[in-house]
Amino acid sequence: MPEEPGFPPLHEYVLAHRCSTCGAQPGQPCDAPQKKAEIDGRNAVRDQVGRPPLETDSLHLMHAARIDAGSRHQDRDVVAAPWPEDREAGRRYDTLDQP
Ligand SMILES: [Zn+2]
Repeated sequence: MPEEPGFPPLHEYVLAHRCSTCGAQPGQPCDAPQKKAEIDGRNAVRDQVGRPPLETDSLHLMHAARIDAGSRHQDRDVVAAPWPEDREAGRRYDTLDQP
């Protein structure tokens, strides 16, 4: 999904949700040792052939259910906000800071 003006990036939405897969609390990264091992393994191979490690998108270490929850939350906020051309520059239209 492209980034929307006036909204935080998707990974902030995802982090704001509790993970139903591993139980990570809001603000904490997912406990995903297999995903982490896969990325570490790939980078170890790259290191052996003299290539730099791949940049890891922070979403790659999150569980799919949590990404879905964050994505739905972002979708709701985007739908509830004014059209992009009616938004004020620099203003945030998300509901992440609200309880
Ligand atoms: Zn998780």
